Amino acid sequence: MRLAARAATACLLAAAAAPAAAWVRSSSCPGDPNAGFALWWAGAPPVLSYRLSTAQVPVGCAPAGCANASCGGDFPTLETLVKASVDAWAQARTAPTDPTPCTGLTTAYQGAQTDPVARIQVGVEDGQDLIVFRKGTCADMVPAGTPCLTQGGCGNLYNCWEEAASTGTLALTVVTFRTGNGQILDADTELWDWNGSTSRPTGHYFTCAGPNPPVPTCTGPGYNQEGCVEWDVGSVVTHETGHMIGLDHQTAAPSVMAPTLSGGSTAQRVLKADDVGAVCTIYPPGQPALQQKLPGSCGSSSRASTGCGCTGGGAGLPGLLVLPFLRRRRGVRGVAFADRLR
Ligand SMILES: [Zn+2]
Repeated sequence: MRLAARAATACLLAAAAAPAAAWVRSSSCPGDPNAGFALWWAGAPPVLSYRLSTAQVPVGCAPAGCANASCGGDFPTLETLVKASVDAWAQARTAPTDPTPCTGLTTAYQGAQTDPVARIQVGVEDGQDLIVFRKGTCADMVPAGTPCLTQGGCGNLYNCWEEAASTGTLALTVVTFRTGNGQILDADTELWDWNGSTSRPTGHYFTCAGPNPPVPTCTGPGYNQEGCVEWDVGSVVTHETGHMIGLDHQTAAPSVMAPTLSGGSTAQRVLKADDVGAVCTIYPPGQPALQQKLPGSCGSSSRASTGCGCTGGGAGLPGLLVLPFLRRRRGVRGVAFADRLR
């Protein structure tokens, strides 16, 4: 009895000293975090090289701003916030006073993407990650009868949101990776931005204001208001960058990878302790990324039938999975990062 009690106490102390990590890595079998390979960026150090599209907020709008655009059409402000949000992961510190980050992951902003075509091309494996604001839904931005409305591809042709509007999703990150080992090859993020209409609005009004000085929540739907917080660009981009580096949603601990966001708040701009633990464990300084073979294989669990597919792009092709350079493009999406919870 006494021995048993002592062992139990020791376990409790150990648990208190080293709380279990709650973060979850995205896997090469989307929808099944326990199958395939965990996703990771290669490189020594791994570099997240990214650009910000000017398709929705042109560079030249500031300081007067462009009407009906995110962050008052102020590109420099938008750019500064996006950079800070992406870079937060590379600047992760266990303690704020630590002189250096606890991760070897680095980020490299390559500037605004102004090319008329490249600035709206998401899901293209070009080695450069793109953050782009989509204007409205394709259904209300693309002329009726346009072939892409039924065949797909309108998003990259018209810079509109191609996903179903009914989901209310704020943003979507598409990660391309090698199925043979989980190495990420490309990651692009789309934010579903407002279509500019107050009478028939679709999308979300994103803001850049805050946190200092403190600003209020926008009133009503928030469209075109400035100096207030509606859907915070910083919180959304911080979350989506987590997907870009290979993290999945989690709800077990405070985290920017929580699958829901509260409108009117900038709180999710700041990495939580579990997020810091994730990036610093997966991408330790001076070492390659932590590769991880997960216990299951694609299709081995009941979830895989909807999450993985594992046919490499078509039924009858499962054998292609053994090819080392087969690439599958899957969305790691903020599906539930969607509903407004005020
Ligand atoms: Zn998400």
